[in-house]
Amino acid sequence: MEYRIGQGYDVHRIQEGLPMWLGGVAVPSDRGFVAHSDGDVAIHALCDALLGALALGDIGHLFPDTSDEWKGIRSTVLLEKVMERVRELGWTVENADITIALQAPKLAPLVPQMREVIAGVMGIAPERVSVKATTTERLGFVGRGEGCEVWAVALLSRG
Ligand code: MG
Repeated sequence: MEYRIGQGYDVHRIQEGLPMWLGGVAVPSDRGFVAHSDGDVAIHALCDALLGALALGDIGHLFPDTSDEWKGIRSTVLLEKVMERVRELGWTVENADITIALQAPKLAPLVPQMREVIAGVMGIAPERVSVKATTTERLGFVGRGEGCEVWAVALLSRG
């Protein structure tokens, strides 16, 4: 059995009056993420972890924000496309672990739904998808409510 590990990192700016998509779930909020896609920074970091594991570049390289083809696209669609690539190359996702840093709103009630949605898109069991949410104790740009920061890791195997 071969294994590959990948990590991903992404930040999106927060602005009033935009929808807030995180982990494939619409978060009830009066502010959301500035982005070319739906702004789902958690899924972007996860895509980069999967691509990183296989040294396939990053999400910006695959889906350029200069292309109208990807404007306003749901990030779950981008994740589906990344998973297609992973499967084509014969790899299986063992697990993924995502940490979201956001000051508000509280994400804990939405975490089970995020795990279900992400696992569904990836075609793996929710037990293999971890989502953790934290604030930064009001420190830094996350703490001031200016942005959301996400780290993700993924382990892939090929038998
Ligand atoms: Mg992004």
